[in-house]
Amino acid sequence: MDCSRLRECLSLYPTKDLDDTTARDVQIHLSRCRSCQNQAEALRWQASLLRTYGRSLPAREAAPDVWGRLAERLAAPLGAPSARRVP
Ligand SMILES: [Zn+2]
Repeated sequence: MDCSRLRECLSLYPTKDLDDTTARDVQIHLSRCRSCQNQAEALRWQASLLRTYGRSLPAREAAPDVWGRLAERLAAPLGAPSARRVP
């Protein structure tokens, strides 16, 4: 697994959509690649923040595009592309 493939996987990682083999490949790559480790940390932090907000915000009052805009704001300072999340 190379870095670009890993970063594709990382976008799925917080939701546990990876199969066991891929998840193991991700773990192996992360154990060796500092750059991807940093990326993974950033995404984990972002995901936990989204979960925190998800619990504290009343779902029925959240506009449908709130998560997209929040993700965009969170991703921007990290330099992660988020264009695909924009409806
Ligand atoms: Zn890497």
